Amino acid sequence: MEVVVPDEFKPLYEVSASRPIVKIPAEVLRKVAEPVTKFDRLTERLIDQMSKEMQRASGIGLAAPQLGQLKRIIIIHPGEERPLALVNPEIIESEGTQLGQEGCLSIPGLYGDVLRADRVVVRAHDARGRLMEYEMAGLPSRVVQHEIDHLDGVLFIDKVDPATLHWMHPDEASETE
Ligand code: ZN
Repeated sequence: MEVVVPDEFKPLYEVSASRPIVKIPAEVLRKVAEPVTKFDRLTERLIDQMSKEMQRASGIGLAAPQLGQLKRIIIIHPGEERPLALVNPEIIESEGTQLGQEGCLSIPGLYGDVLRADRVVVRAHDARGRLMEYEMAGLPSRVVQHEIDHLDGVLFIDKVDPATLHWMHPDEASETE
């Protein structure tokens, strides 16, 4: 789907040193990210930077390609708990469906309903390279599916129900990934 950004939302699409999150139509958002093989200071630094930028943008999730880095790293922060970094995440089980609204920090202002699995089990490394498994349902599950899609160059506009797409100022929306 081609997105035409209305004039009033165009300022949100500017990228600068103080607002480094990449916006559509940047090509990096459409590429497949590479697995992380080294759990070193560079990986840690990227995770810290992702966490900082996600919080600065009031997001609930962020994937490394959104900072222009083609690495399989995502951060999710859907609730009160600390942000969770998942490296090389893979969905190994999924069950049920949920329909809910999504937005994306790389497509600011655009929202729409996406059908996702309800419950997922995700296997991923943590920031230090330990293999972990997480079971999630509801919003955390939705966010993790949205972010893993980013690692494969897939955006929510590829899966959205087009009839539900609408523009809204991000300050008025509750959550953006
Ligand atoms: Zn996104």
